[in-house]
Amino acid sequence: KASPDMRVFEQLESEVRSYCRSFPTVFEKAQGYKLWDTQGREFIDFFAGAGALNYGHNHPAMTKKLVDYLTSGNIVHSLDMATKAKEEFLKRFDEVILQPRQLDYKVMFPGPTGANTVESALKLARKVTGRETVISFTHAFHGMTLGALSITANSFKRHGAGVPLNHAVSMPYENYLGDAVDSLTLLERYLEDKGSGIDLPAAIILETVQGEGGINVASSQWLKQVEQLCRRWDILLIVDDVQAGCGRTGPFFSFEAAGIEPDIICLSKSIGGYGLPMALTLIKPEFDKWAPGEHNGTFRGHNLAFVAATEALSFWETDTFTKETLRKGEKVKLALQRMADDHPELEAEVRGRGLMAGIAFGETDFASKVCKEAFTRQLIIETSGPDDEVAKLLPPLIIDDEGLDRGLAILEESIKAAKA
Ligand code: PMP
Repeated sequence: KASPDMRVFEQLESEVRSYCRSFPTVFEKAQGYKLWDTQGREFIDFFAGAGALNYGHNHPAMTKKLVDYLTSGNIVHSLDMATKAKEEFLKRFDEVILQPRQLDYKVMFPGPTGANTVESALKLARKVTGRETVISFTHAFHGMTLGALSITANSFKRHGAGVPLNHAVSMPYENYLGDAVDSLTLLERYLEDKGSGIDLPAAIILETVQGEGGINVASSQWLKQVEQLCRRWDILLIVDDVQAGCGRTGPFFSFEAAGIEPDIICLSKSIGGYGLPMALTLIKPEFDKWAPGEHNGTFRGHNLAFVAATEALSFWETDTFTKETLRKGEKVKLALQRMADDHPELEAEVRGRGLMAGIAFGETDFASKVCKEAFTRQLIIETSGPDDEVAKLLPPLIIDDEGLDRGLAILEESIKAAKA
């Protein structure tokens, strides 16, 4: 039941997603992996801003940097002027992320959101190749703006545009049609075949683990095959690392384990460190083809986000953070597998990589019931997948074992309660 102070939202907010029905309370405070509502109830956050809070809520070192920055007369809004905060971020990003991985990319600030980086990637791929089509995959989610939505394979979300969307072709993601269909061979056949109706695309865009699409994990082998296909056909490879990036799957970039090198990388969500809006588009230098001013935007270089983002890069000076995320990820996977094994009638399937985890249920609406039960027990989790069939777990990566155990125990109770 909604708390009394939810009434203002019910009366005044539009029916669109801004009025959040899944978590019917008013939140007031947050720290690390915890949230508190106006009634003083403590919640465990396994949602983490859909991956925007990998370093948790209000990280103390980032808070300090932000407060110092704000109280020292520094510049907050500067459009895309060069600032000290921006310079420091760029330098640290190069030193801590790009150089140790021997990656050579130009950094672009496309706007404050994930959809902004995807839009910039789509535009650039089309400009560089002079081709129009972009291939994405079944279950893909790339954002709500018109271009990003056109490559998002979710008909409910697409209906939000009111009319059919074009410029995109969705091919089956790995295993979407089972082992019998090799979607990449199919795609290559289509490209060779004048009768297929598929024009040579500008780019292929993918998530290495599909977040909104239901925690679908691509194998390293499949990712390598996609890269090889792109190289054979001179198609740009775009990795949308908005949700899976910034350490969510273990390494900083989700594709590192596969050893591929995308032409364009989209980052947002946790790149801002503190939950502050920020996005990056990383571009292989040879494709950095925009004329100055061809892609701009008012909030594409927010200095507070740079300050928090620079501090967040400290997590990446050693490989401890990656190792810990992988260790905690294994723990989550084992716990979920045990829950699945304990309830064979639920036909549950455990999915994930690192701390991007999910449990898919056979019965329609079961995952939604689990999330509701979890909320009443003060655990925040969301569903994902085209039919909301997956309970998705994205705890902040900084979570300790105690928090993880408590959250998992609540999940287990919630599954039992949803069955009753
Ligand atoms: N790409 C992916 C993979 C995402 O998960 C999301 C957001 N869930 C986006 C793009 C869009 O990001 P935003 O909501 O910040 O526009």
